[in-house]
Amino acid sequence: MDFLWLFITYVTFLVVCIFAFCFLSERSRNGLDRVLHRADTVLSLVLPTWLQRRYKSSFQTRNGAFVILHLILDILVFAEYSWEVLGYCLELEMNWPFIFLPYACISVNLYFFYRCCAADPGIVNRKNEASYVQLYEYDSILFHPENQCPTCQLTKPARSKHCSVCGCCVHRFDHHCVWVNNCIGGLNMRYFLIYLISLTLTALSLAAVITAFLLKVVLLSHMMSATFIDPDGLEQLVNMVFIIQHLFMTFPRIVFTLGFLCVLVLLLGVYSAFMLYLGLTNQTTNEWHKLKGRSLAAGSRKGYSKGILGNILEIFQPRTCHKKDR
Ligand SMILES: [Zn+2]
Ligand SMILES: [Zn+2]
Repeated sequence: MDFLWLFITYVTFLVVCIFAFCFLSERSRNGLDRVLHRADTVLSLVLPTWLQRRYKSSFQTRNGAFVILHLILDILVFAEYSWEVLGYCLELEMNWPFIFLPYACISVNLYFFYRCCAADPGIVNRKNEASYVQLYEYDSILFHPENQCPTCQLTKPARSKHCSVCGCCVHRFDHHCVWVNNCIGGLNMRYFLIYLISLTLTALSLAAVITAFLLKVVLLSHMMSATFIDPDGLEQLVNMVFIIQHLFMTFPRIVFTLGFLCVLVLLLGVYSAFMLYLGLTNQTTNEWHKLKGRSLAAGSRKGYSKGILGNILEIFQPRTCHKKDR
């Protein structure tokens, strides 16, 4: 069926794009650097020089390309919602706090998106080096007191890491996020978590309103009890595939937007849950990635956890004092 092939192609394209989103946001620079190095080798053989320069400036140096792409995606989804869905919802007299909820969510999201982009993640420099070294003890597994950053020429505080994109060491380094064009570290992790959760809620509220609108259309048009004549000339009751196909033909952009939002909610939900798990257990993505698959003797690494409440407090009231942790 043409419609199903079209829809499957569309969903596959979305999954690939969103997988790239999660991959670029979540993976540590080490993993990403390896992949980028391999991609470089392949691309240098096939791409013209000007395109190679453009590719390198997008992924390997700090720039706002993905921030702009992020805002364009926001604008496209909300333009479609405001232009088509909202008008229909108002005509059908749907509950107005429900249909305006996505605007409240995106307002919160955009504010924390800005804070993520603009805030200092916890850059270690000569002035604050001594203070940051005092904040966490070295576990002698991932972090060693004698480690110096060869680029910054500074002592590496425990839990910090040098970001090759930003060109500096970052306190309690989590990952470098191309979508906010900034590192996620000890001082802006709170903004990143709220940004991520509010983005998931924005997508969820949009998907919920669009689904409610389409259900209302189906109910008001009595589509469930409608019949059609099949190729053998027999009268048949419409089934779910027929209804979806009919909705797609009647509201193509709205159904496409709903498909995009459903995939986005699923992936953002999984990623948010993962980041919350790391927050509640006081781990960074960098530490989780490095310890993954390493069999450590029981009790050899106690980690930095101070209990669920202590861990939440550490994210929302980040430690910048001179008091020694643990
Ligand atoms: Zn460094
Ligand atoms: Zn960075």
